[in-house]
Amino acid sequence: MKPRVLIVGGSMAGLMAAGLFRAAGWRATLFERTRGDLTGRGAGLGISLELLKVMKRVDARFDPSIGVAHQTWLWLGADGKAAFELAKPSMGSAWSRVYQALRQTVPAEIYRAGMNLERVEQDGSGVAAIFADGSRAEGDLLVAADGILSTVRAQFLPDIRPRYAGYVGWRGIVEERDLPQETQDLIAGRIVACFPAGEMMLTMAVPGTGEDVRPGRRRCYFIWYRPAAEAALADLFTDASGRHHGAAIPPPLIRPEFIRAMKARAAEAFAPPIAAVVERAAQPLLQAITDLECPQLVFGRVVLTGDAGFVARPHVAAGVTKAALDAECLVDSLAAGGGDIAAGLAAYERSQLDFGRRLVAYSRYLGAYLEAQTRPDALPAALARDPARIIRDYGAPHLIHDLTPENLRALRV
Ligand SMILES: Cc1cc2nc3c(=O)[nH]c(=O)nc-3n(C[C@H](O)[C@H](O)[C@H](O)COP(=O)(O)OP(=O)(O)OC[C@H]3O[C@@H](n4cnc5c(N)ncnc54)[C@H](O)[C@@H]3O)c2cc1C
Repeated sequence: MKPRVLIVGGSMAGLMAAGLFRAAGWRATLFERTRGDLTGRGAGLGISLELLKVMKRVDARFDPSIGVAHQTWLWLGADGKAAFELAKPSMGSAWSRVYQALRQTVPAEIYRAGMNLERVEQDGSGVAAIFADGSRAEGDLLVAADGILSTVRAQFLPDIRPRYAGYVGWRGIVEERDLPQETQDLIAGRIVACFPAGEMMLTMAVPGTGEDVRPGRRRCYFIWYRPAAEAALADLFTDASGRHHGAAIPPPLIRPEFIRAMKARAAEAFAPPIAAVVERAAQPLLQAITDLECPQLVFGRVVLTGDAGFVARPHVAAGVTKAALDAECLVDSLAAGGGDIAAGLAAYERSQLDFGRRLVAYSRYLGAYLEAQTRPDALPAALARDPARIIRDYGAPHLIHDLTPENLRALRV
């Protein structure tokens, strides 16, 4: 009889786990609390060779249109002059582009939408998931892929919560054709970085409608990191009716006065081609930047993966890649355990605790320049970090972002 795995969470980590477990001969069922598609939710996303390898392994459809290649990073001053440019190849995509390719790999009969996990029960031989509608599912293993606010983690590690980094990220997406020609020329083949005092903003092209990666048909994505003291956060994330939304407010509920102030500041802080991107973003998104570390990932027959276990700040561009590597390591460790589930889980935990810690630590290093603005006493050296150094160090040193034609050819992309 095939072993049964219950996967909680139907986003990136859950979808990749489902594909890999099925390929390894497990009976997988995936439970996602949201009904319908998650496509509308994400924005820009960093692609790595490791992610593409896992996508290929689960048979997710991908081709060169998976992302837009950037050859260099350009630091653009507020005066519109290039302050520094560095050859640093990378690839940017859209969250929805990767999500859709993965979603299509999971058959409808094993994807159970509208299932909100409430708690987990287990004994020596198996595990049960109990849902808000009162139903129950049983398996040999439960994979928690339920994200940064994981219900499963809260049951086993109630004291572990996301930690606020001291700054927020404003994000937005604009059709490239709606931008001035000078903006389109500036972002062609480049990630453009701007550094208003104590802040950081990145602008780049990502695939457009219908996965179009041709110049003029793509979209332009920006993320703008702005320090915000913890005391100011509550107001930023409170809607016009007075309701507070924690660390991520639904975009239509962001108070218009905050959007107006953000756009007015963009007009002063950035050169016109970059200010135009912010100005034209119809519905900006706002997120408090947090990170998360867990001291343990395995609890009997329950295992934490993806954002449920570790969340690095976005500067390493590795959220989805980490979800892919967790899923791959889990399935391969169980296979190497040869039917001894406990041994397989122990090997997974050893490997991914170390990986998660290193990734979070590096993302904190990269974000220290921003964090130091609200915590100057704690991080005095980071206050003075040079933008050219930030650009050099950006990304995850453990991962392959440089998707050279040779790398891609090896995958037959
Ligand atoms: C809305 C959204 C937008 C994002 N946008 C970006 C982006 O633009 N760029 C980027 O780099 N990263 C983005 N991320 C983060 C990125 O997706 C994650 O880092 C990466 O995919 C790994 O996440 P995950 O699958 O572990 O968790 P998540 O992507 O957070 O998914 C967790 C899933 O679990 C489900 N879930 C939660 N609780 C329960 C429960 N009790 N029962 C059942 N299901 C539950 C959630 O509905 C969700 O679908 C986004 C995440 C989300 C949720």
